[in-house]
Order: sequence, then structure tokens, then C-alpha cells
Amino acid sequence: MKISTFRIVSLSTEIAEGARRAAQAGAADHAIVTADSPTGYPCRHCLRFAKPGERLILFPYASIPAGHPYSETGPIFVHAEACERYSATHEYPEDLRRGRAFRAYNTSYDMIEAEVANGDEPEAIVEKLLQNPETAFVDARSVTRGCYTFRIQRA
Ligand SMILES: [Zn+2]
Repeated sequence: MKISTFRIVSLSTEIAEGARRAAQAGAADHAIVTADSPTGYPCRHCLRFAKPGERLILFPYASIPAGHPYSETGPIFVHAEACERYSATHEYPEDLRRGRAFRAYNTSYDMIEAEVANGDEPEAIVEKLLQNPETAFVDARSVTRGCYTFRIQRA
């Protein structure tokens, strides 16, 4: 079996739990929503689609921190109930094979390359972006709505 050259980094449990607490406390920028489609609500902590009827927290997340030209804060979901952080870090998450764009950043958080998986294996695109020695990490985002989904680092 091929050893992957990458490591999948999902949202930290600390941030997911912080979002759940903020939503419970009624924070205006943390909404509780109910999934109404099987492929519309990817949880950034377990990297699975919420099932219709499951509740999620919708909140803004700074995937690229403030203070840089490419700084970016945008909406993400996590399950409202506790879920297990994605642990198969050497395997590309099965639920998210389709509909992702991949952006490569350097150590200064500048975006240096971007590609869409047009029916290609996402692993091949990730590995290609990581072959560039300038690439510090790759972010997977929704190709339609642009929302941050997960980060990929070198293994
Ligand atoms: Zn989850």
C-alpha cells in the first residue's frame, strides 16, 4: 500500500467545543442549524456530512489569520453534538472527494497556487501542490460556496 505524503488536519476539538459553548451561550455569530440535505453540511471536526435532521453550529472561522493580504474568515459548520475528530489523517476523507478546490499557501500565508479536482483523484492534486518546496500547507475549500473545509500538511 502506498504511503501518503500528506496529513489531513481537521478543525481542532478545542475550537469545535468553543463553538458549541458560544452557541449555547447565544452568541450572535453562532447559529444552530439543522441539516436538510445529505451532502450540504460537512462537519469540519469529524469531516463527515451531517445527516438530514442533525443539528450543527454555523460560525465564522479565520482559516488564514488576520494581518496578512490573504487573511480570510468565513462560515463553517461543526456538529452541535460532540463528535470524534477525524483520525485517519493519512487518508483523504471519503465524504469530501468531490466539490473541493485546493489552495496552496507559503509560510507567509500567501496563496501561491490553486486547483480544482475536476474528476481527478484529490490525492494527486494535493501531492502535486505539496511537491512545490514553497508550499507550507494546502487548504481544501468548497468549490461552490468557497467555505474552508480542512487543511493538509506534509506527513
Ligand atoms: Zn462532526
